Amino acid sequence: MTKILITGGAGFLGSHLCERLLNEGNEVICVDNFFTGSKRNIAHLLGNPYFEVIRHDVTFPLYLEVDQIYNLACPASPIHYQHDPVQTTKTSVHGAINMLGLAKRIHARILQASTSEVYGDPEVHPQQESYWGRVNPIGIRSCYDEGKRCAETLFFDYHRQNNLDIKVVRIFNTYGPRMHPNDGRVVSNFIVQALKGEDITIYGEGNQTRSFCYVDDLIEAMVMMMATPTSFTGPVNIGNPVEFTILELAEKVIALTGSSSKLVFSPLPSDDPRQRKPDISLAQNALNWQPKVTLEEGLRSAIAYFSNLLQEN
Ligand code: NAD
Ligand code: UDP
Repeated sequence: MTKILITGGAGFLGSHLCERLLNEGNEVICVDNFFTGSKRNIAHLLGNPYFEVIRHDVTFPLYLEVDQIYNLACPASPIHYQHDPVQTTKTSVHGAINMLGLAKRIHARILQASTSEVYGDPEVHPQQESYWGRVNPIGIRSCYDEGKRCAETLFFDYHRQNNLDIKVVRIFNTYGPRMHPNDGRVVSNFIVQALKGEDITIYGEGNQTRSFCYVDDLIEAMVMMMATPTSFTGPVNIGNPVEFTILELAEKVIALTGSSSKLVFSPLPSDDPRQRKPDISLAQNALNWQPKVTLEEGLRSAIAYFSNLLQEN
């Protein structure tokens, strides 16, 4: 049995990863400080004797024995990572140092959940892994963007200096069931607003673009990445390359929910990337992976999830 540590395991992506790896017959340890994650996300896994949960903040050292580590701990939505920006940088940087130190001591393979935010507001489109990015080092998104960039640096330095077995994936906007309903990310915001019949909040004119990946596709790619030969470290882009404007997303959500919500426009937050779309050729070649779920299919399943959640509350 492979023993796997997932930091941030009670979060949106982490809970899907815990579930997937348990279903495949692994032993899973979920480490989380429950800042944005919740027990509800993993409640259905608690009866599994091969699942263990530890409340722990990754900015402090952790002593465990495992074969593999997926490092996901970090708030991912702008509202949450800007709530305590110093803690966000600490989580990315000290968290990476602690998890890399752990991996080094126990000779574990370690995967970092990095982000398309390392490309910042890009002047290259679509974004390839070879692009170094255009990131403001002192803006309101910097605690997250620069924290994640520094974490990547640490991963590659541990790899070069200590021969550590590393994997780095750069995740592009991913959505699906178990997103936090109030975390401010665009897909959850629009669905919850549409279901409640509230105004749909478009920041700017809504012509900025994003490319939305359904959670199952993303988890598949992460697991495939962990299984690649040691020589393949990444970084590798994981995302869905079909690009939409934020206005198009709002229209799709309104159509699929049958909502009578109106669009309202408010100022674009600073440093908000104007366009984003992954070049996934590396993932296609190295992992033989590509996303399968269309935005419409994925939105239907996310809408069903939020609709149940709202009825319960
Ligand atoms: P999330 O906020 O749902 O999950 C993050 C988890 O980390 C939460 O359970 C939170 O409680 C936990 N956490 C935060 N700080 C911690 C700390 N100091 N110690 C221990 N646990 C801590 O977000 P998510 O969307 O599931 O993102 C998971 C990872 O994937 C993050 O590292 C994020 O940067 C990365 N990512 C996500 C996306 C996306 O679109 N969802 C895109 C790019 C990168
Ligand atoms: N956005 C929006 N309305 C919202 C929430 C977000 O128009 O209620 C916009 C936001 O300005 C950005 C895009 O949607 O241009 C994606 O935002 P999100 O926070 O989901 O992800 P990120 O900006 O980190 O890609």
